[in-house]
Amino acid sequence: MPSIFSRIVAGEIPSYKVAEDDKFYAFLDINPVNWGHTLVIPKKETDYIFDIDDEELGEMIVFTKKVAKAIKKALPCRKVGVAVLGLEVPHAHIHLIPLQNEGDMDFRHKVENPSPEKMKEVCELIASNFEA
Ligand code: AMP
Repeated sequence: MPSIFSRIVAGEIPSYKVAEDDKFYAFLDINPVNWGHTLVIPKKETDYIFDIDDEELGEMIVFTKKVAKAIKKALPCRKVGVAVLGLEVPHAHIHLIPLQNEGDMDFRHKVENPSPEKMKEVCELIASNFEA
């Protein structure tokens, strides 16, 4: 059975897409730690990120860098933090989180009831700053 993220890529489940190419897909985390919290996934489903072959993992990092650049341009932040957890969804993904301070990376704190309007606004801001 395909993962929830494969279903997002297939368009069966909606997402706030910020960027994609033929191999990778980036979208807002639905339960963000901070505004602009984005996930980058390979379209080819693999559970554990370090099971991805070297070439594809390298390409995934390069794609992730482009998404991080778009986030940094779109939102006020000092840097964009990077994390890999993968404890919840068995489809490899990289979390990108805009940071003002290290507390912004705390996964125990989430944005309270993120409104669809603001999610859409943030999504469009990042998408419009993405350069392939
Ligand atoms: P983890 O596997 O521990 O890295 O956590 C999975 C992440 O995916 C969490 O931050 C969730 O909020 C996020 N997530 C789960 N389902 C969706 C979805 N349908 N759209 C966007 N993000 C999701």
